[in-house]
Amino acid sequence: MLKLLPLLLISSVSFAGSASILKMADDIPKDQQTLIQSDLNRLAGMSFVVSDEKFSKVLDFNGPVRSDTMLGWLSERIKYVVRSDFAVAKAAYIENERYEYQNPRILPTLPDNVKPVDEASVADDKKVMTVMTNIGGVLYIAGKQMGSLLGLNIPGIGKVPSTSPRVGILQIGPGLFAARRGDKVGDPQSIDASLNRLGTLFHEARHSDGNGANVGMLHIACPAGHAYAGYAACDFSLNGSYSVGGHAIKVLGESCTSCTVSQKEALRLRYLDSFSRVISEIPDKNASSQEKYLKVMADSCEIFRRNKVEIPKEIDCKKIDAQIAGAKHQTIKAQYLDSKPEGFVEKRR
Ligand SMILES: [Zn+2]
Repeated sequence: MLKLLPLLLISSVSFAGSASILKMADDIPKDQQTLIQSDLNRLAGMSFVVSDEKFSKVLDFNGPVRSDTMLGWLSERIKYVVRSDFAVAKAAYIENERYEYQNPRILPTLPDNVKPVDEASVADDKKVMTVMTNIGGVLYIAGKQMGSLLGLNIPGIGKVPSTSPRVGILQIGPGLFAARRGDKVGDPQSIDASLNRLGTLFHEARHSDGNGANVGMLHIACPAGHAYAGYAACDFSLNGSYSVGGHAIKVLGESCTSCTVSQKEALRLRYLDSFSRVISEIPDKNASSQEKYLKVMADSCEIFRRNKVEIPKEIDCKKIDAQIAGAKHQTIKAQYLDSKPEGFVEKRR
């Protein structure tokens, strides 16, 4: 605590105003508001230029990534924060019953049969906790499904209509300020916990992007064999939330001059965890149905052979065997998705 005080002072003195990109609901506990604001001040106070082509591509930047452009990127995508026990259903209201949406009827496919925790989750002593949720994006998609424009009545801020995923309303989750024993990110006041929370803001900011089937840049269920198998905690895209959050934590950790070696290591584990959730290829469903068909044909060939029955001329068993050998491991590779947001994006007030 004592060690941190001078840093907070430097941040608030040197960069006052520059990082007030978030409007926080007035019922968020003051200590939490202070932590989030000091995280943003910390980013505003950093000054780095990183040449990382992949990260630039992920953020849609031309040229290197700088601390100030990172903050600008964030400010376009996240605008409001509500507390962790905020009752979304109670605060939601209908702004316009019949609303004309851009790309009408085109909605993202939601992953089915997922385990019930979806956002930026961490495994803490085998318990998966929600860190933060982009409820603005969720509300936008829900409204679009209904054909009505929904909004949220935010304490101390008022009514905010969800006209785009870019409305940028975040809800604090129980995991945001929790000490994470599993991966050694400890005290919420520590610098590594702060940089880690910034990574979470970048993750959530990406959910404010996308259009049509990509709106919200939603997660997929992690595949079998993955540490988070069955949870909607993976991306099948190269510029999704886990890429953004992972790259952000990597750059912030590597640029951190006051982090200890163990804090840098803790951050390294965090970004590796994020990158491990970017699934680079998945089995091609069409290919696998083709494989199933070939397998049935091959089995038939085997039955013909075993029973010494003449094989009909139209069945080329040799060709089928060759096709089965070639059809193995057919996959679809992850792409950079079109992150351009849809809807009406309100200018910052
Ligand atoms: Zn997410």
